[in-house]
Order: sequence, then C-alpha cells, then structure tokens
Amino acid sequence: MAVPKRKISKQRKRKRRTHFKLHAPAMTVCPNCGEVTLAHQVCKACGHYKGKEVISQPVLEEEEEAETE
Ligand SMILES: [Zn+2]
Repeated sequence: MAVPKRKISKQRKRKRRTHFKLHAPAMTVCPNCGEVTLAHQVCKACGHYKGKEVISQPVLEEEEEAETE
C-alpha cells in the first residue's frame, strides 16, 4: 500500500478542503402546475416532464372520515 512520505500540513489540508462545500440544488418552476421542482426531473407535484404526463396522478377524492365509534 502506498504511504504518504510527508504529513499534509494544516494549510495544505485546509486549502484542499476550501472546495468541499454545499451548493443549492438547481430548481425550476414547472410549466404545467407552477410548482418549484428540481431541474431535469419529473415534477413531483403533477408528474409532468417536457410537457407530457409521465407519472399518472391519482384522481383526488374527498377523504372519507372513518367512523370508529
Ligand atoms: Zn408540475
């Protein structure tokens, strides 16, 4: 196994790690429903991508309250 010849100094280590940072995900507005979604991915709200319905959404029905008493 290759072993480093010298210890990496604090400065060198910290300079390398300046590039380790979080970035915000690329978000776009869905042209179909107007929801803010991830770019280049199917809209989670309406299931559309590139103007087509890719994932069929269940028809919204009024939720019936279960009677437990
Ligand atoms: Zn949408």
